[in-house]
Amino acid sequence: MKLINNLLSLFYPRLCAACGDALQQNEQCICLDCMLHLPETQFHKEHFNPLRHLFDGRVPVEEVTALMSFKKANHVQKILHHLKYSGEKEIGKILGKYFGGQLITEERYQGIQYVLPVPLHPDKQRRRGYNQSEWIAMGLSEGMGIPCLTDVLVRTHYTDTQTRKNRFARWQNVKEVFQVQHPGKVSHKHVLLCDDVLTTGATAEAAVRKLREVEGVKVSVVTLAATTL
Ligand SMILES: [Zn+2]
Repeated sequence: MKLINNLLSLFYPRLCAACGDALQQNEQCICLDCMLHLPETQFHKEHFNPLRHLFDGRVPVEEVTALMSFKKANHVQKILHHLKYSGEKEIGKILGKYFGGQLITEERYQGIQYVLPVPLHPDKQRRRGYNQSEWIAMGLSEGMGIPCLTDVLVRTHYTDTQTRKNRFARWQNVKEVFQVQHPGKVSHKHVLLCDDVLTTGATAEAAVRKLREVEGVKVSVVTLAATTL
């Protein structure tokens, strides 16, 4: 099997999703050098960090953090592109697990009971074949040793792409798209909402608002990357 893999990689080398160099046998999706140089925010170490301030005066959240800082043309943009548009969903799981392992060392994250991915609209998920946030959630769940729930937060309306809209238009676009099913599963629980990118926070805010309609629920938000830094 190893020989076949070696031969295959000779003709079809697996490439690092960040730098594009050929991966070594023991590397998965992202090469070791890129993993060691990820632009990590380390925001999980501070309660009052810049990402948390995005939610000030909008909706109460417990903790907010992102693994990496996203800038145009940096490795993070390439990693996210591979995760979302090239079918490389395993990237979400690998980075989610890596981040989960860091989060669980912080006391403020230790009381979290469930990981909840931000859902995609079913039509969009069918077209893409997977929800990248669900793969991030699976990784976080593994890294933190807590279950992931995919049937609680659901998306009901289709939304256009957010990229060309300003903050208000984005808010109009997402504020009514989420619904909560089986609220009993999360009532009086602390849940971790996860997504790929945090930009204006509009999507996360809409999801947090919906979740907070459930009695006694507390919500923290984590993403793989954040742009507002
Ligand atoms: Zn690399």
